[in-house]
Amino acid sequence: MAMGDAQAAMGTNAVPATAMTVGIVGLGLIGGSLGLDLRRRGYRVLGVSRKVLTCDRAVARGAADEASLELASLAPADVIILCTPLNVLGQTVELLRCHLKPETVLTDVGSVKGPIVEEIEPLWPNFVGGHPMAGNTEQGIDAALQDLFQDRPYVLTPTERTPSAAVERVRELAIALGSVPYVCAPDEHDRAVAWISHLPVMVSTSLFQACRREETPAVRQLAQQLASSGFRDTSRVGGGNPELGLLMARYNREALLASLTSYRQSLEQVMAMIEGEDWTGVEATLQQGADDRPLFL
Ligand code: NAP
Repeated sequence: MAMGDAQAAMGTNAVPATAMTVGIVGLGLIGGSLGLDLRRRGYRVLGVSRKVLTCDRAVARGAADEASLELASLAPADVIILCTPLNVLGQTVELLRCHLKPETVLTDVGSVKGPIVEEIEPLWPNFVGGHPMAGNTEQGIDAALQDLFQDRPYVLTPTERTPSAAVERVRELAIALGSVPYVCAPDEHDRAVAWISHLPVMVSTSLFQACRREETPAVRQLAQQLASSGFRDTSRVGGGNPELGLLMARYNREALLASLTSYRQSLEQVMAMIEGEDWTGVEATLQQGADDRPLFL
């Protein structure tokens, strides 16, 4: 890209990229979307993924300047963003670290932070846990989108051992993406996302399980035909990538169970009110929901 074009594409979110090279491992929805936006803002992006086809698509789509299967190709990178599924983040760092210069900053995008930070920090001291709070129910490089992170929170979870220069580097990238950076402890992140992300996935998937129990096939079929916007909104996150849902449950088990227990209590309270025809109680609960929603969204 010519210099003039790069500056034009940088837009209002850009920080001067000073020819910074960013490596991305895992060119799927999140890795590909990061690559698309970082390249448009003037960063040089080197990608690594598992499949040749994915690498070729990433370059063709403009999500990476170059992409390969070789972690060694990331040796020149100043910052590397790990965008693989949660269960291969640690082993990726084990294989990657021998290729890197000591000042390279590593960060990840995993949706659980406590166990991931605990696993990677001893492997690479210049590591900052991260989680861009954006996504959708699609997966793979063809699902990558421009501006996915615009105006979305981007959580950083440094510990007392994380070098502050590394945190600053990743914060700059988040700002360049148009995101709003937040800094918190890994376990605070995990408890917060249990409420607003992981609990809704389990609630939403349980909704499908419940609907399957309708005994009369004709009624079940009618329900499927009548499903509209309300069902679309409440079921969306339960109909997404099963691998992601499974990994968030495995890695954030404790916080997820705590939020599910609380949710079960809430359901039991509502059931007791309806059974007891406590319509004032039902109305107050619904009113509280209407009042609380703007606090979250
Ligand atoms: P995805 O679309 O399935 O992308 C993951 C990519 O990683 C795959 O396309 C795969 O590429 C690649 N990959 C898998 N194993 C690999 C390995 N061993 N080495 C190199 N590449 C490998 O999933 P995603 O939604 O982008 O999620 C990726 C990460 O983002 C996860 O850690 C997740 O927790 C986090 N996250 C997801 C969301 C969301 O809403 N989806 C939001 C925020 C954060 P190939 O095609 O080459 O196999």
